[in-house]
Amino acid sequence: MEDRYVRLSRFRPIGTQGLKQIQNKSAVIVGMGALGTVLAEQLVRSGIGEITIIDRDIIELSNLQRQTLYSEDDVRHQWPKAQAAKKRLQAINHDVKVTAVTTDINASNAEALLSGHDVILDGTDNFETRFIINDVAVKHGIPWIYGAATGSYGLVYTYIPEETPCLSCIYRYLPAGGETCETVGIIAPASHLTASLQCAEALKLLTDNRDAVRKGLFYFDIWTNDFSQIAMPYSPDRECPTCQHRQFPYLEVEFSTKTTVLCGRETVQIRPAKDTDFDYQSTVQRFQKAEFDVKSNDFLTQLVIPPYRVVLFKDGRALIHGTNHIDEAKRLYQNYIGG
Ligand SMILES: [Zn+2]
Repeated sequence: MEDRYVRLSRFRPIGTQGLKQIQNKSAVIVGMGALGTVLAEQLVRSGIGEITIIDRDIIELSNLQRQTLYSEDDVRHQWPKAQAAKKRLQAINHDVKVTAVTTDINASNAEALLSGHDVILDGTDNFETRFIINDVAVKHGIPWIYGAATGSYGLVYTYIPEETPCLSCIYRYLPAGGETCETVGIIAPASHLTASLQCAEALKLLTDNRDAVRKGLFYFDIWTNDFSQIAMPYSPDRECPTCQHRQFPYLEVEFSTKTTVLCGRETVQIRPAKDTDFDYQSTVQRFQKAEFDVKSNDFLTQLVIPPYRVVLFKDGRALIHGTNHIDEAKRLYQNYIGG
């Protein structure tokens, strides 16, 4: 095992000193899709001390085109992404402490899950979650690395507390929505390159190579062969509510939405109200007695009620596949699950 990292430590800006630093650091990845799987694999192969991986979804066949770490077997067994990724990551490097969390990041759990790490990595596909990450990062003084990939292009940006502008500062420079993963699709090289650029930034941060960190918003398109970087100078007099006025609305529970339409997947997520004690076992028993089409594993139960497919997690969170309509999904949840 001695020579596992020899090529990494031979890279001069990192060296044996940098390797030791990496081995004592911890990262958290939000979202284990196309970006998260590549990020996690690279960091685990680089010997990071600890990694926490968070995802709210299960693996689908259409993920395999670009999401490394997963197999057809994982699709068949309906594994949650975080757990399947952990299994694979531990097989790659058993020295790394890997913590898998199957949940969605929201106002009530974000600070507990994301603070205390040396870097937060963005593997999400939506701005609601990114603003939650940004609020935690600014509030707790943790760097975070934004990444987004669609079609053949990608964007990467590194936030460093009191050194670079935060997401609220730069939001107006980001490309406007409209293109989603549903309308334009994505090629694997675009997401892999985005994640690799994020990982390079993470390695610089974890080894205190601050001067090497990219200062600006980097954009590339590997089909049109364009790339550009927008400089993002830090000006402390900026009127940013987040990093200058320290307001963190995304961490206020009242602000947090209970239902979310997932990006391009005809899926609505529903979280139960915080104060309800969800009884998973008796809910599943009720499904079985009613002779629904029910399949369970250690982590979740899937219920097919055509044209819908409901994935129910132990904490009462559900993914309603087959609709983009919040009201329709809520009705289904209330009728079959409760709440
Ligand atoms: Zn800001």
